[in-house]
Amino acid sequence: MVLSGKVAVVTGASRGIGRAIALVLAKKGAGVVINFTSQAEAAEAVAGEIRAAGRQALVCRADVSDPAQAAALVKAAADEFGRVDILVNNAGITRDNLILRMKEEDWDTVLQVNLKGAFNCARAAARMMVKNRHGRIINITSVVALTGNAGQANYCAAKAGLIGLTRALAKEIGSRQVTVNAVAPGFITTDMTERLAPDLKEKMLSTVPLARFGRPEEVAGLVAFLASDDAAYITGQTIAVDGGMTCF
Ligand code: NAP
Repeated sequence: MVLSGKVAVVTGASRGIGRAIALVLAKKGAGVVINFTSQAEAAEAVAGEIRAAGRQALVCRADVSDPAQAAALVKAAADEFGRVDILVNNAGITRDNLILRMKEEDWDTVLQVNLKGAFNCARAAARMMVKNRHGRIINITSVVALTGNAGQANYCAAKAGLIGLTRALAKEIGSRQVTVNAVAPGFITTDMTERLAPDLKEKMLSTVPLARFGRPEEVAGLVAFLASDDAAYITGQTIAVDGGMTCF
């Protein structure tokens, strides 16, 4: 098992891409901390699947946008498993609107969860990783950080900020053998994309060379690779999993 003995914290792991990441990391041998904010039952179900497969899982409610809760999440992982090797900053939300109609509160909330949440968790986990001279931080950004998207100024700014955070941290803690990378999904079928209007989905599909939407497991596979020893010499990168949407 490539991740045997490793411990991973996955934020927003109750559903969608985070759930798939938690399951694949566990399948490859890691003990996994499943973070969520509201859907406790869904988070427990993910933990149940992991335990049924003979791996260890801990469920931990924490709003990652709150520095104290993010620190408590990382501490809970360390208290339970004795270490944190892998942090996947996956928790994310959207509050879409055109800039002329966007409420300040929607700007702030999206930045707080998607960008500051990753900073809060990375700061807490990096302390331990630097000390251990080993670690993997993987930030889930989006292709819209690279392309922009009308109606998502807040989300695009937050996700582009994550790419900057990834590069800066890679340079800051690389000498301690902690790698920091970003994964940029394209259109992946989850609750987040389910609520989009059918005509918008059609329009997006026409921009995907592979002519289909992605599955959460297809993002999780790359995350598992980046978390493994095989990816030890990859850092500061942003890699898209988008069916070719951004190949230009
Ligand atoms: P999703 O199905 O809506 O799930 C979001 C997850 O984030 C849930 O587990 C949710 O927990 C958690 N969460 C939300 N706010 C949180 C907070 N403040 N603290 C901790 N956890 C929080 O989303 P998804 O589609 O899987 O997306 C996962 C990540 O991929 C996000 O960062 C998203 O921006 C990114 N992404 C998605 C797509 C896509 O096409 N789906 C494309 C590009 C990037 P609860 O269940 O408790 O609410």
